[in-house]
Amino acid sequence: MTRTTYALELADVVAGYGRIEVLHGVSLKVPTGSVFALLGPNGAGKTTTLQVCSGKVKARTGCLHVAGTHVNGASPEALAKAGVCRIPEGRGVFPNLTVEENLRLFSYSSRLSFAEILDRSFTRFRRLGERRSQLAGTMSGGEQQMLAMSRALISEPGVLLLDEISMGLAPLIVADLYDVIGQLAEDGISILLVEQFARTALAVADYAAVMTQGRIAMVGQPADVADFVNEAYLGGAA
Ligand code: ATP
Repeated sequence: MTRTTYALELADVVAGYGRIEVLHGVSLKVPTGSVFALLGPNGAGKTTTLQVCSGKVKARTGCLHVAGTHVNGASPEALAKAGVCRIPEGRGVFPNLTVEENLRLFSYSSRLSFAEILDRSFTRFRRLGERRSQLAGTMSGGEQQMLAMSRALISEPGVLLLDEISMGLAPLIVADLYDVIGQLAEDGISILLVEQFARTALAVADYAAVMTQGRIAMVGQPADVADFVNEAYLGGAA
C-alpha cells in the first residue's frame, strides 16, 4: 500500500510554553500544493501550531513531518532549509529601505538572478512594481504584507506559513493577497494559514480546520467548516 505524502503533517502534537500546555494533541495534514486554513478564536493555539511547524516551539510528544520526513526537534534553521518558510509577525520588512533594496537583501543566497527575483515579485504583486523605489515604511500595511511575502518567496519554499495576514487590512487588499495565495498553491507551494474567522480564507482554501482550546474541533471542506463556524460561533445567524 502506498502512503500519501503530505507537504506538512502534524500527528497528535502536544506542545506549550514552560509548564503551560497549549496544544493537547493536534493532528493536521496539508497536501502538496494546497491551501489549508486553520481558523479559531483568540488564544485557541493557532499561532503556537505555526510555531511548532517552523521549529520555534518543540513538540513534547507527537510528530512533525515535512514532505514525509520526520523532523521532530529540528531547529528553525533546519526547517527553513527543508523548505518551510514563515513570514514573521509584524511582517519584518526594513522600513528605511526601498522595496527593491528589501528584495536585494534576500537575493544573495538565491539561485535566481536579482532581475528574475524582481520580475517574479512584480508579476505576482503589480503594486510592488509601481512602488519599487518607495521606502517600505511609507507603504500601506497591505503593501508591506505583499513585500514580506515576496521576500519569503525568494527562497522558493515548499511550505509557506502565514499568520493572520488580513489583520488590520482593508477587504480589497485582503482579496488581492488571497488571489496570490491561490496562485502560489497552483504553482505547487503548500500553504498553511491561520486566521480568526475569515470568509476570504475559506473562499481560497482547499481544506480547513477549526481549532478551539488547543484541539482541532473540526476539519473538512471549506463549505462544511463555514457551516460549522456559523453554527458554533454565530448561532447559525450568518
Ligand atoms: P490569537 O489569534 O489571539 O493569536 P491563537 O489561536 O494564535 O490566538 P496562540 O497565540 O497560539 O493562540 O496562544 C494560545 C495560548 O498560548 C494562549 O493562552 C496564550 O496566552 C499562550 N501563549 C502564547 N504564546 C505564549 C508564550 N510565549 N508564553 C506563554 N504562553 C503563551
